[in-house]
Amino acid sequence: MASSSTVTQETTAEEDLAFWKGRIEREPAVVLELWRAAFRKRSGRSNIDNTELWTITIAISFLSQAAGSGENKFVNGRPWAEPKTARVFAALRKNGLCAVCEEIVKQPDFFDLFLPFTIAVLDIIEAICVLELWLPVVDVSEVKSLGECVTRSLWAHKDYFLEGGPILDAPPEYGGQKEFSVRLRNTVVDLLAPFLFELAHKQNWGAQDDLRRIGLFCWLHTEGNEADILPTHIFKPILPLDTKPDPSMIDMERGPLSEVIRFTTEEAVPTYGAEPILRRLCQTLRAPWIVDAKLVALMQGVSLPILDAKMNAKLASTGLLLAWRDAVDRQFRDGTDVTSNWQVLDYTLQVFSVITIDVPIADGSAHLVRECGVVELVSRAVRMYPELGASEKGSALKECLRSISAYKKFAAAMNMRSGKNTLRKTFKQQMHREWYPTLQYLRSQSRSNIGTEKLLLAWDDFGKAVGLSEEQEKAKHAREAKKAAAERAHHCAWKECRFNEEKHPMPTTLRACSGCGVARYCSRECQRKDWKTGHKIDCRRLREAEGAFV
Ligand SMILES: [Zn+2]
Ligand SMILES: [Zn+2]
Repeated sequence: MASSSTVTQETTAEEDLAFWKGRIEREPAVVLELWRAAFRKRSGRSNIDNTELWTITIAISFLSQAAGSGENKFVNGRPWAEPKTARVFAALRKNGLCAVCEEIVKQPDFFDLFLPFTIAVLDIIEAICVLELWLPVVDVSEVKSLGECVTRSLWAHKDYFLEGGPILDAPPEYGGQKEFSVRLRNTVVDLLAPFLFELAHKQNWGAQDDLRRIGLFCWLHTEGNEADILPTHIFKPILPLDTKPDPSMIDMERGPLSEVIRFTTEEAVPTYGAEPILRRLCQTLRAPWIVDAKLVALMQGVSLPILDAKMNAKLASTGLLLAWRDAVDRQFRDGTDVTSNWQVLDYTLQVFSVITIDVPIADGSAHLVRECGVVELVSRAVRMYPELGASEKGSALKECLRSISAYKKFAAAMNMRSGKNTLRKTFKQQMHREWYPTLQYLRSQSRSNIGTEKLLLAWDDFGKAVGLSEEQEKAKHAREAKKAAAERAHHCAWKECRFNEEKHPMPTTLRACSGCGVARYCSRECQRKDWKTGHKIDCRRLREAEGAFV
């Protein structure tokens, strides 16, 4: 007897673990009951006080993670765990793994017991979500109920994710309290949350608001971490990004968007304030890797929430509109997907024209005209229209006409001001640059398209509303083009070349780009560099602009 008790005491943690792993395979139901019982008997706040609870927990956690992670093989394109692990995990699920997890997560002291335990349980739940997404095995409602519980519990303990939160006795092997809150946050933000969000959308969970709260919270508290966190995941609970637009989406009164708007106005803004949210959004918009589909998804997601009254008032002062405008430029410069170009422009015009109409000029459109070059954006959209695919043309025409009409109203307001008013002058200058070339471009496009015709009429009207006359504009542009051509003739267009500023000593004119005939270069080297850094895009526009005067 004595010797056997000595053996038990000397059993190492690894042997304990091996023992429980074996037992899970043989008697999953029994282990789950023992786990539940050990949890109910929990005492103190360390793993030493709760040896059995801790050992069973990590045994289940190891097995769950093996079943739900990188050790997977792929079968028919779907991940499939090593058969034995998968079978054992399925047996745990069948015998009530979700129910035990739910009971544990529901207890108010779940986050206070000892944090390695909390994290191990969250890891188990993550594995349940992952496997549910890949291979729905047992019962949807079980996972849904567990998911709703865990989101509620996470939200109730949100302070624990913050440095200086109530975690006081994090064990030294985890680096103390600060390290621990970081670890806990990573577990939730990087691992658990994305899967929770995905499942919640797939299975239409009820706890949407709890998910949105956690999403917003995680995003706000991971500043400058754009490279590690997918905004599409973080935004998903706040904004139904993965939902294909359908009629209910557009229904602001009842659809998912109405929930997003309500959440923004009633919760997000009152809890965190409009400014911190917008400043955080500036960072996300400026992340260099957010282009193409990612940028479209982001803009789609935030375009309505930022039009909330309190946010709307801070769009200029927080730098959000500038960050937005820079993101548009990044898309056109770095994007590889042409259809995204249009979509980005489309969301931008939607947001900008609402601001122009709804916000006092001083806070809204003045900033858009002065700092964000909005006239050029509207002009760009109008020029893109003739080339869009048939499926995009319908909504694109509506958006272009809406923007033109918004800025026609703005023009009317400007006409009331004195001719010396600087905003009025800036606006007119921009219109001067854009209006006539775009008008000519539209005329050059096929007249067989009724949309292009409508746009042409609206654009023509727009210029007249600003007080531009076609004859005068044509003459002005021709004069300017001639003057600019004379200036360009002896200067290299590559802005870093010394002959960009300085006049080239060669008596004859420099060689022109064969694409546009406008840009001139002193050498092939300069031309190559300019092409790579932007002329590739400008070339076509310059050619079209030149065409307007021929
Ligand atoms: Zn040069
Ligand atoms: Zn060119």
